[in-house]
Amino acid sequence: MVKPRAIPKNSTCLRAGDYLPYLRGALRTSAAPPGAAEEVFGPLLPDRRLLATPTGRHALWAFLQTAPLREGDEVLVAAYNFYVVVRLLVQRGLVPVFVDVEPETLCMDPDALRARLGPRSRMVLVTHLYGHPADLGRIARVCRERDLLLFEDCAHAVGTLHEGRQVGRAGDGALFSFGVEKLINSFGGGLLAARPELLRDFAPPAINVSRRLSLGDTFTRFIYTAAMSPGVYRSLIRPASRALGWASPAARRSVREFFEPSKDDPAYRFHVESRPPFKPFMAEMQARQLRRLEENVSRRRELVARMRRGLSRVGEVRLLDMDRHGRANASYFAAVVPDPYGLAEHLRRRGVGAHPQEFLDCSMLEQFRPYRADCPAARHASGSVVRLPSYPTLSDADADHIVESVASFYAGAARPR
Ligand SMILES: *Cc1c(COP(=O)(O)O)cnc(C)c1O
Repeated sequence: MVKPRAIPKNSTCLRAGDYLPYLRGALRTSAAPPGAAEEVFGPLLPDRRLLATPTGRHALWAFLQTAPLREGDEVLVAAYNFYVVVRLLVQRGLVPVFVDVEPETLCMDPDALRARLGPRSRMVLVTHLYGHPADLGRIARVCRERDLLLFEDCAHAVGTLHEGRQVGRAGDGALFSFGVEKLINSFGGGLLAARPELLRDFAPPAINVSRRLSLGDTFTRFIYTAAMSPGVYRSLIRPASRALGWASPAARRSVREFFEPSKDDPAYRFHVESRPPFKPFMAEMQARQLRRLEENVSRRRELVARMRRGLSRVGEVRLLDMDRHGRANASYFAAVVPDPYGLAEHLRRRGVGAHPQEFLDCSMLEQFRPYRADCPAARHASGSVVRLPSYPTLSDADADHIVESVASFYAGAARPR
């Protein structure tokens, strides 16, 4: 009899002590003092000015306010992306120009970037997607030659290195995110790291939200995080979810939507005051997790290496070249497969959380129709990438179970033609 497993898709695996700053400060609604971010992230990002923000998208928004950009300027951005990032560009009056990705890393392809440059090009927004370092050497060179602003989306990339250095310092600005799905999780919070000149005269907007929103928002994220810790997930969430599934498949679907929000919401609009300000407990939680960053990244990389070895014998699975331009932090383990939805369903039945639609080809989304472009690698990724668990509290046996579950899906699917 095989022991049933319950492996959540993602877990930041906070230790009990990491919750303490939140529990101590949970009822406070005040913002952290300016300088809180410098104290925590200064050593990782020397030579940058740091601004703590309510979320990662607020950091991008702040940059778009302070950078020398005019309405109608073009921003080159990878097509395979998080739609919210593109949405912010459009909301600021900029024109997104979609650039295809490298099939090996799913990050912006520098050759495709060159081909899409034009007289109105003003900025490049490069994403270190899945914690894979993008080809910063070549992309930064294009920006220097053409006098373009360079912004790095490092939402997945704390601990990702390019030429041995933390990414986020190659150009004019970078965003980091500390949401519940990210490698460092402080129940929200973000960071803008920018060239000091850009922030010299910038006064971030005051964030006035109701006490209810302020406390409720972080509390929801605390609950979500606790639910995704492996022990709670195994003993509470998965059994509850199965019971709910028997009782009401529709209710189960809506719970799943809460845990896996849509990656394309045409009604989304960014509001500065949609989230509480960056709070003091967030900085403390981040500091604790940063101290374990290298340990966290090496265990993730070890697990991913083990699963890659196992999966190399499954012909249907194509693995990415995550270290092509540096060192990936292995915060996401993405594989390119046929039928990712079928595979994810099969994995869920075997107790393995997997997400078949982590990001989309934004150049094909209806909401970005005016900016439509032909990006074959992004389009292919949209329909064929599955995210597998890779967090540091997985055991080697868990990793082997994941591999074996993937292999059994394709063995069982011995397709008649
Ligand atoms: C999460 C994420 C962001 C934004 O972070 P928030 O803190 O949710 O605003 C930006 N880009 C990517 C690729 C992300 O995954």
